[in-house]
Amino acid sequence: MADKLHRFLLENLHIRGEWVQLESAWQSIRDTADYPPPVERVLGEALAAVSLLAESLKFDGSLVMQIQGTQPVTMLVVQATSDGGLRGIAHWQGEITEDAGFNDLFDAGTMVITVENKPQPGQQQGERYQSLVALQGASLADCLGSYFAQSEQLNTRLWLAADKQRVAGVMLQSLPADSTIKPEVAEENWQHATALAETLTDQELLTLDASELLHRLYHEEDLRLYDAVPLHFACTCSQQKIENAIYSMGEQEARGILAEQGKISMDCEFCNQHYELDSIDIERIFPRDGVPHGTQQGANKLH
Ligand SMILES: [Zn+2]
Repeated sequence: MADKLHRFLLENLHIRGEWVQLESAWQSIRDTADYPPPVERVLGEALAAVSLLAESLKFDGSLVMQIQGTQPVTMLVVQATSDGGLRGIAHWQGEITEDAGFNDLFDAGTMVITVENKPQPGQQQGERYQSLVALQGASLADCLGSYFAQSEQLNTRLWLAADKQRVAGVMLQSLPADSTIKPEVAEENWQHATALAETLTDQELLTLDASELLHRLYHEEDLRLYDAVPLHFACTCSQQKIENAIYSMGEQEARGILAEQGKISMDCEFCNQHYELDSIDIERIFPRDGVPHGTQQGANKLH
């Protein structure tokens, strides 16, 4: 069974890691659009990356990785929630050749990683943390690797792969320094563990299960493999969020569309869920007495 994540520990090397493979969740996500193969591949890699990052962080809410303002891929967004839900989407313009690499897809632009916790009682919005990641590198894994090298105390690297069937990834991270291990030994261990991971082929990442793959790499180390964490495709869209989006679009525009088309139709791009609002819904969102019902401030976005 795919659609799961395992944490693991290389105890003697003082390094922790994660392994992920997605299959049916990936099918649901790639089926929502007819992606050119290079866009599909990077969307898959981003999903593997966001699954690995979400498991490595402590939060109760969602983690979103978004790349925006680039050509020909104008937007790519993937989301992992703390309960194992995943979704993602990419937009592109023009022709994209089969052999387009990561740098051909994202000519300029920024990647933003946002961790947003659920609001606590009495809070409008939960706590939010954002990190900017430069799009410098030959792959998504490279960009994330340089980001960690610049911003984190802990050595962190990712290996990602995607094909039509599956997406997969491995992450290694040094454990925080402590007195039991000398810095030069820790560095040697890190070089050793990453050199072994470097030998992984995409094929191995995509087809081997966690124990087989980790045994192949680290059979000479003290490897501890933890129980699988299940992951699944899940969209967080809802009637309420659609109504909030219409509310922020403004009354004049909403009533204009209603007058022209008799209804307002919206499809969620993440899951293809179709939403339709009629004049009664619009009256409820924009009542004549001016007091909106059932809308929430600060929740007027789909992701
Ligand atoms: Zn949806």
